Amino acid sequence: MSLRVIFLGPPGAGKGTQAEELAREWGVPHVATGDMLREAARRRTPLGLEAKRFMDTGVLVPDEVVIGLVGERLAEPDASRGAVLDGFPRTVAQAEALDRLLRERGTALDRVVFFDVSRGELLRRLTGRRVCRGCGATYHVVSAPPRVAGVCDRCQGALEQRVDDGEAAVATRLDVYATQTTPLLDYYRTRSVLSEIRGEGTVEDVAAAIRSAVGHGVAS
Ligand SMILES: [Zn+2]
Repeated sequence: MSLRVIFLGPPGAGKGTQAEELAREWGVPHVATGDMLREAARRRTPLGLEAKRFMDTGVLVPDEVVIGLVGERLAEPDASRGAVLDGFPRTVAQAEALDRLLRERGTALDRVVFFDVSRGELLRRLTGRRVCRGCGATYHVVSAPPRVAGVCDRCQGALEQRVDDGEAAVATRLDVYATQTTPLLDYYRTRSVLSEIRGEGTVEDVAAAIRSAVGHGVAS
């Protein structure tokens, strides 16, 4: 059996954690595009070097480079039974390219899982991060608090909130994500492969909702 699944969700939805766990359970690789780009750059493959050129200048890596890298990754032996894609596709153009790529290889997507998390909860999760000014250790005021509020456990340095984690910056990131993703959700909804699951609750609850959405696809 094979399993080709995409996990879609806003920043802070917790899809990375779920993708890692469930990919292991299903015996397929977890393909996180961000990590994959950095890895390809490190290995200095032709596409990796091209991606690096964009990343170094802070420009978004163009679709054709990302698609090329995803294509290479999915052709590796460990992905012969499928993969959990995390962070890709981001646009309808990328989704169309992925469909073409899978069709050329005689396969198709099994399911697209969207993590539905309320804006309030996302703001709470994303603005709670605190970083130590001294050693760089990270904490979360709710899910991973230091022993003493505002003080680093390791070096007693002062904890601060990065500008990127402030409410205004986070709200902008969520708006950009929503604008970008709505057409992508429509694309998959019309193809009847979209499952929207509630991304709140315990890690176990969310994992159970994903398993049931993916259903028959569990690799044996
Ligand atoms: Zn510290």
